Amino acid sequence: MTTQAEPQVTYRMSIDGQARESSSGEVIEVRDKFDGALLGTIPAGTAEDAQEALDAAPDGARAWAATPAHRRAAVLKAAAAQVRVDRDVLSAMLSAENGKTIANARLEIDTTARILEGFAEEGLRLFGQTVPLDIQEGLESDLMLTVREPLGVMVGIVPFNFPAELYAHKVGAALAAGNAMIVKPPEDDPIVTMMLTEILHRAGVPHAALQVVTGYGHIVGQHLSSSPDIAAVTFTGSTEVGAIIAANAGRNIVRAFLELSGNDAFIVCDDADLDAAVEQAIAGRVYANGQVCVATKRIMVVRSRYDEFLERLRVRVAALRTGDQRDEATDVGPLISVAAARTVEAQIAASVEQGARLLVGGTRDGAFIAPALLEIDTRVGIATDEEIFGPVFSVLSVGDLDEAIDLANASRFGLNAAVFTSDVTRAIQAGRRIQAGIVSINGGNAYRPDVAAFGGYKKSGIGREGLGYTLDEFSQVKSIVLRGV
Ligand code: NAD
Repeated sequence: MTTQAEPQVTYRMSIDGQARESSSGEVIEVRDKFDGALLGTIPAGTAEDAQEALDAAPDGARAWAATPAHRRAAVLKAAAAQVRVDRDVLSAMLSAENGKTIANARLEIDTTARILEGFAEEGLRLFGQTVPLDIQEGLESDLMLTVREPLGVMVGIVPFNFPAELYAHKVGAALAAGNAMIVKPPEDDPIVTMMLTEILHRAGVPHAALQVVTGYGHIVGQHLSSSPDIAAVTFTGSTEVGAIIAANAGRNIVRAFLELSGNDAFIVCDDADLDAAVEQAIAGRVYANGQVCVATKRIMVVRSRYDEFLERLRVRVAALRTGDQRDEATDVGPLISVAAARTVEAQIAASVEQGARLLVGGTRDGAFIAPALLEIDTRVGIATDEEIFGPVFSVLSVGDLDEAIDLANASRFGLNAAVFTSDVTRAIQAGRRIQAGIVSINGGNAYRPDVAAFGGYKKSGIGREGLGYTLDEFSQVKSIVLRGV
């Protein structure tokens, strides 16, 4: 692949109000995932850099918590407005550094603005209660008031697949609730998070209330999340790293909110609208090049409709276009790295070894995986229950909905699920039985309304994120009791 003219943009960390390089002098190069062009460098932060941010954060937390809620909301709204103004620049950078299509990147930037604005609004409704305590014998003349207070200093660790949107979910919520936040961006595509941080600072967030320490997870992320001086860590990423974060936080009695991996089921019943099901299966698997926690990862089709569904899906998968993520006609761009594509290639090979039939695609070219259609059975994937993070459609036939639900629930994960049926009773029953944070009826897995309580059952996470939920988690209740009034 050719390398274009290489602009040298040096991005710096934001620590204690200063734009900083790494104390080691080391940098990480961030490259376009299609042509390898250098987009810029970020500092490879050290544990000492992370510690400086931790030391500066309490002042930021105090200053921001003392800022009136209406002012905090105004700052977040101004930042959201600026994200809309900068939409084209932010989307272009996100698409280049991540590899997701420009259309997907625009969608993510639009969501980012909406989420920042949504949390600004939610921050204006952090109310407590007035509780007359005559509900309990002996306390007849007492009155209890509850107020919600910020947690303090929070650490936010962001994954590569939705760096802008998940930054907004973490930073927007933390700031709206009056906390200070130290962000650790993903190392493969951090630039959009640096740009968003600059927008928030310019909008009026004090530098000490929002700091960014870039670098590798096992160094910077590890140091920040193991600090006994933070109040909470909010992490989105793999279940493996989530377990490390939980252990670090647990040792220090620090709250850990974890949004982790998934292996979502997509169930097609005998009475399903197959046009809708095929459409949603495609949309749910190619979105962000298949690198989505809630992607359609295990498609289960009831036997009587299996052949028809498989044939329709085969035609659609074979027609998907891979290519430059900037090309509006591209369906699937490059994965985040050649190493990530090699992992998917190996998972396809292992599935075939276990008995899967590769019907379409599956070859690797650099960071590209040709969209693959894999016919599997219960010995494959479900037995190993591995998350495949790429454009791989794994399909298996099942006897009926009950069998599909049992297989869905056999997974150690439980993020989202999708069920296609025209029978309302069946739909509700399936919705109640499937162990997942969101069950979508006649829609795909990659479904996340801003207000939904988004989060995992089982090894997919701890806690719920969403406009109506995160602020409860990112704040704490204090009760003030008036006796004898
Ligand atoms: P990852 O776990 O490899 O990395 C996530 C972040 O953690 C990165 O910023 C990384 O630098 C950091 N990190 C790595 N090691 C660390 C350590 N020891 N201590 C602290 N931080 C560390 O995940 P990824 O590859 O960036 O993202 C893909 C994974 O994220 C998938 O499994 C996907 O399902 C999951 N994900 C989940 C959700 C959700 O909401 N549940 C959303 C998006 C992605």
